[in-house]
This record gives sequence, structure tokens and C-alpha cells, in this order.
Amino acid sequence: MKKTCIIIGAGLSGLTAAHELIKNNWEVTILDKGRGVGGRMATRRAGEARFDHGAQYFSTKTPDFQAFAQAIIQKNIAKEWHLQEGDTSFSHARVIGTEGMSNIPKFLAEKLNVITNEKVVNISESGGNIKVITEAGNTYEADAIICTTPSPQAIELLQKSEIATAEIEHLKEINYDPCIAVMATLKAQTNIPSPGGISLKNGNIAWVADNFQKGISPVFSATIHATPAFSSAHFDDDLTQIGHQLLSEIPNLIAPDSIESYQVHRWRYSLAAERYSENCLVSKSTKFPLIFAGDGFGIGNIEGAYISGKSAAQELIKR
Ligand SMILES: Cc1cc2nc3c(=O)[nH]c(=O)nc-3n(C[C@H](O)[C@H](O)[C@H](O)COP(=O)(O)OP(=O)(O)OC[C@H]3O[C@@H](n4cnc5c(N)ncnc54)[C@H](O)[C@@H]3O)c2cc1C
Repeated sequence: MKKTCIIIGAGLSGLTAAHELIKNNWEVTILDKGRGVGGRMATRRAGEARFDHGAQYFSTKTPDFQAFAQAIIQKNIAKEWHLQEGDTSFSHARVIGTEGMSNIPKFLAEKLNVITNEKVVNISESGGNIKVITEAGNTYEADAIICTTPSPQAIELLQKSEIATAEIEHLKEINYDPCIAVMATLKAQTNIPSPGGISLKNGNIAWVADNFQKGISPVFSATIHATPAFSSAHFDDDLTQIGHQLLSEIPNLIAPDSIESYQVHRWRYSLAAERYSENCLVSKSTKFPLIFAGDGFGIGNIEGAYISGKSAAQELIKR
């Protein structure tokens, strides 16, 4: 009989873990509280405009992740993006989704058993099996669990479930920067340099992207990411005012009279600024296999999420 695993979270780490387990003959169910898959690799529509409002691109440093990137580029799910700035650290090719970053997790989720709108609210042991209960009142059972939520959400779940208290201390070491993202639909092209992205060094804005130049939006549109300091200080402020303030800071990049409309999204967890040094965390205080993974482990970012998801699956397979 096949071993079974429930993966909490259909972001890149959860989807990668699922593929690795299935390759090794496991049966996997992925539960995600969101409406769709991808987590922070997110692309939003507003009318005809499209925006990458979470992750903007990824870099590839390790051979395995480079091979993954090449495979999705060959399938036309992703493409190279040659971001050039004065800073030499920006001179190598990045990778973006051909129709937005969410293209990549959507592709990975094809043929997987992913159940969305399923927020896990409790984990317990039931007759040697693990039982998971969701907010909707549904119950799932399996032999093992991989939890890939951002660590504060994992802590909340463990505390409610009254399990893995020793691991909570390690999960508390992981911290994420918040990020306020503004998505503007425009009447004219931005002045953001080709190929459509710029990091800013001063002020309240860290990054501005032109989704039309990136090739993901059929109409002119831009994404602004506020700095962690600004996002933290203004996280609960009025969103319309915040959007207006941030847009008015960069008239040289986005002309004020080109702005047709805008919306604002708050990411409570964006980049994992402080991470757990290992690629995943295996619970020693539960009788059943419970592994924590995600971009809060190892090298962080999208590449770190991929490595962490794969490591978590390999830990289970080893047992
Ligand atoms: C604004 C922003 C900009 C970024 N820019 C970049 C960038 O340019 N390059 C880069 O490499 N990285 C970037 N990142 C980081 C990158 O997006 C993440 O590192 C990566 O997507 C994390 O993947 P993950 O699978 O670990 O987590 P996530 O994508 O967060 O997936 C976790 C999933 O768990 C689900 N979940 C949470 N709690 C529960 C629950 N109780 N029950 C069920 N499901 C649950 C969530 O809905 C989510 O889908 C950025 C992130 C943000 C937000």
C-alpha cells in the first residue's frame, strides 16, 4: 500500500515536495487556504491588466534548481529576464513566468491532488494515523504531514493543536518582512528602464516593475513594492491613501496623469529575512512524521522554497 502525506500549503515548496513524494510512490493531498495555488508567487488581474504583485522573478544558483528552471523554460512556462542595472549583482539572467509568476505553480499543480479554500485548523493523532481538520469542518487522514506555511502561521496551528511545542521555539527564529504592494493600471507606458524592473535605493519604495514590458500584461500596468520599513510602519493605514502616497513618490517613473486606477495589497509575510539554517525541520516531539519546510529554511526566496520542499520530501522518503 502507498504511504500517504498531507501537505499544508500549495506554494512552491509544497508543490515541489508533492512532486518528489509522488516520484517515490507516495500518495499526496495538498490543502491550501487560498482561492488558488502559488502562495506568494502571485499574479492578479484587474480588467485587462495583469500584475505580478508578490514575487517578481527568481535567480538560480544551485544545479538542481537551474535544471528545474531550464525545464520550465523549455515548456514555455517561464522565460529568462535580463535585468540590467548598475549594480553587477543584477547582471545575471533572472527567470519569470511567461504569463506571470503564478504560471509556474499553476503548471506544477496540474495533475496533483490540490484542494483550495481548505484552511487547516487542527492536527492530531488518530489510531496511528494523522488527522487534519479544516475550517470548513472536513477531515483528512494520512501517514505523514509536511507543513509549508510561513512560520507564524505554522506556530498558530501548532499552538491550537497543542503539538510540537519544542519545534515552536525553532520556528520563532524565522522572521519575514512585510510588504505593501501597489498595482496601477496605466494609460501610457512607464519610464521604468528595459526590461521592466528597477530597485530604488532611497525613499519608501524598494522596487518598481512594468508588467507590460515584462510581457505579462496586455495593457500598461506597474507594480510598486514599498520598503520593509515603510510597509511595517504603515501596514494598517488606509490603503487608498498609501497607494496615492507611494505613486506620487515616483513621477519620473510613472507619470501622475498616466494613472487610470490602482489597488493595494498587504503582504504580512514577503521575504524571509531571518531563516532557520537547515533546509527543513523534522519534528522530534510528535510520534507521527511532521516536517516543516518553506522559504523560512535554508537559503530563502523562491530557490530556497524549492530546495526546502524537496528536502522535506526526501526526509520522509528516507524514513
Ligand atoms: C512582495 C513579495 C516580493 C517577493 N519577491 C521575490 C523575488 O523577487 N524573488 C524571490 O525569489 N522571492 C521573492 N519573494 C518571496 C517568494 O515569493 C517566496 O520565497 C516563495 O514564494 C515562498 O514559497 P513557499 O511555498 O515557501 O510559501 P508560500 O508561497 O507562502 O506558500 C505557503 C502556502 O500556505 C498556505 N497556507 C498558510 N496557512 C495555511 C493553513 N492553515 N492551511 C492551508 N494552507 C495554508 C498559503 O495560502 C500559501 O499558499 C517575494 C515575496 C513577496 C510577498
